[in-house]
Amino acid sequence: MNKTKGVAGSRRKQPERRCVGCREMKNKIDLMRIVRNADDSGFYVDDTGKVAGRGAYICCDADCFKKAVKSGGFDRSFKQKIPQEVYATLEGMVNNE
Ligand SMILES: [Zn+2]
Repeated sequence: MNKTKGVAGSRRKQPERRCVGCREMKNKIDLMRIVRNADDSGFYVDDTGKVAGRGAYICCDADCFKKAVKSGGFDRSFKQKIPQEVYATLEGMVNNE
């Protein structure tokens, strides 16, 4: 497991993004970015925050994840229905953070 959050010593003001689960604006570095591959082959967590493509932000929190699934937040963000197996994979990632 590699921890990529909590960049120590960075005092720069970070941009804010909205969590698709709780819908709250949070510091970008406190959120996990989920990106859809440009070739639509799947979804993955963007640890760098620099990957091009459509993305969604979510707190590293299982509750937020459940809310996002329930409310269809991911579906809206990606403008498509997210397959069940993708949710399962993403949930595993959220819980691993
Ligand atoms: Zn949240």
